[in-house]
Amino acid sequence: MSYFGFPFPEETQSFSSHAQVLDYLCSYADEHDLHPLISLGCSVESVRLASLPSVGDSSHTFGSVDGSLSSSEDSSLGEGAVTGTDTAAAAGRHGGGIDQGQSKAEVESTTLGRWEVVYRRRSAPAAAAVADDDDQVVAEVFDAVCVCSGHFDETYTPTVAGLDEFQGTVMHAREYDIPGVEAFVGKRVLCVGARSSGTDIAREISSVAHAVHVCDRSNPVNSKGGERGNVWWRTALEKFEGANGVRFKNGELLEVDTVVWCTGYNYAFPFLEGSGLLTAPASKRVHPVFEHLFHVYHPSLSFVGLPQSIVTFPLFELQANAVAAAIVGRASFPSLAEREQWLRGEDDRLREGGVGPSSRGAHVLGGRQWEYLRRLLRIASGPGVLGRGSTAENHPPQRGGGDEGSAVPNASSKEASPSRGAAAATEGGAQQRHQLELERLLNVLNVKEAIYNDAGDNRPWFPGGPDDYRRRQYRVDWDSGRFSVSYADRKANGEGPSSPAAS
Ligand SMILES: Cc1cc2nc3c(=O)[nH]c(=O)nc-3n(C[C@H](O)[C@H](O)[C@H](O)COP(=O)(O)OP(=O)(O)OC[C@H]3O[C@@H](n4cnc5c(N)ncnc54)[C@H](O)[C@@H]3O)c2cc1C
Repeated sequence: MSYFGFPFPEETQSFSSHAQVLDYLCSYADEHDLHPLISLGCSVESVRLASLPSVGDSSHTFGSVDGSLSSSEDSSLGEGAVTGTDTAAAAGRHGGGIDQGQSKAEVESTTLGRWEVVYRRRSAPAAAAVADDDDQVVAEVFDAVCVCSGHFDETYTPTVAGLDEFQGTVMHAREYDIPGVEAFVGKRVLCVGARSSGTDIAREISSVAHAVHVCDRSNPVNSKGGERGNVWWRTALEKFEGANGVRFKNGELLEVDTVVWCTGYNYAFPFLEGSGLLTAPASKRVHPVFEHLFHVYHPSLSFVGLPQSIVTFPLFELQANAVAAAIVGRASFPSLAEREQWLRGEDDRLREGGVGPSSRGAHVLGGRQWEYLRRLLRIASGPGVLGRGSTAENHPPQRGGGDEGSAVPNASSKEASPSRGAAAATEGGAQQRHQLELERLLNVLNVKEAIYNDAGDNRPWFPGGPDDYRRRQYRVDWDSGRFSVSYADRKANGEGPSSPAAS
């Protein structure tokens, strides 16, 4: 789950806690000196295309080195580095530009654009959700906007007949932490949805609840399990009946006290509403967006973090890398025709899957994420983009060893090091270095994929059952690309000793 070249501390368990993840993110920000770039207490209220670049204004490039969007050689950043600071500078306050040769039609269809961002600087950041008269409203123009606002905020609940009559407690998984597990003592609970939230909540409350029923469209049959034998897997929810009744697709009727919607979240970008940039409604599929990342027609508007069922941090990092490469004009960026073709391919894929182009599953990648990441790496692989910011020499294994940045199944990162001689300084050397870095990252991806598959294979499908898979500890030998698995001790009551290495 770690960023490339920035491992979690050695002692961190593979199933890490919220506090450990927070600490990791803070360390990453410290390491890369990101804090000065972050304006806390600011809430973006609107993002609008301010202007298309004027013909002849070539002070900034966006997209590819080969000119499919812009062929200006004028990069304000010089050769190579894409650091956090550079990215912010590139996304910052200098003018957009295109080549003299581009037609107006091409400008309008591939536009670089400039973005007017209106944001509210909170007078009392702690109460950031509430607007205050003393807030400062600021409008600024940017060359690029990267939307990283998350998508676990606006809840989604399906419309189910009879809910108005239901007399029990109804909540969404988003509110689960507020009452906590105590609210479920002795209750008959229905969790609607059997993905991450549904299975995790079922597992947790089964220790105190009378019975937990987990229903999902994908459950073909009823079954029972859980450590206390009180977790039931049910077919899809058909309707509510009377004060406490819930009827399932297979005709079965049960009484429950509490319903927890574990049905996910909507994508929501209130600051883009009314801009005409996204096809409404954007709640299920963010459209038109190329590779779940770049606006097809205005690629200087990007969306990091849309994909679901993925290994979050490496995927977000490679998305950010691709955006940064495009901002500094060093990406292998596809043409408008290719971006539109990708979009049509996605429509076809969703139609063939029987769900239609506006499906909620549009950004669910799952096992497809690895091919996606390889494609992103290639987009971000303009000369000079890779090989900086993620190499072993930039991230020595100071965080407890196991630094994947230096541990690759080849010697390429060593050969690629700038300290390896004058060859790297030449154009050929830079290209070779770039190629080796690309191969190195692809190898790291292969290992991450193998671990992801192993974790998935060992995850029980039944909620509430033994969760030994959470104690699986992965240790990687990055030199060979092999990993081993051991089991951490159960912390709670000392059950069972550590198991020996499994593979
Ligand atoms: C219950 C739960 C458990 C999860 N468990 C795991 C897990 O075990 N492993 C895992 O990898 N992932 C897990 N995830 C997913 C993970 O939390 C997300 O993938 C991750 O947080 C997404 O990061 P992000 O930066 O894209 O968005 P977020 O973490 O949601 O951050 C978005 C930020 O944008 C800010 N923002 C939003 N709108 C505006 C605006 N208009 N102006 C200014 N700022 C704005 C928000 O305040 C927030 O700080 C879990 C998610 C949930 C809900």
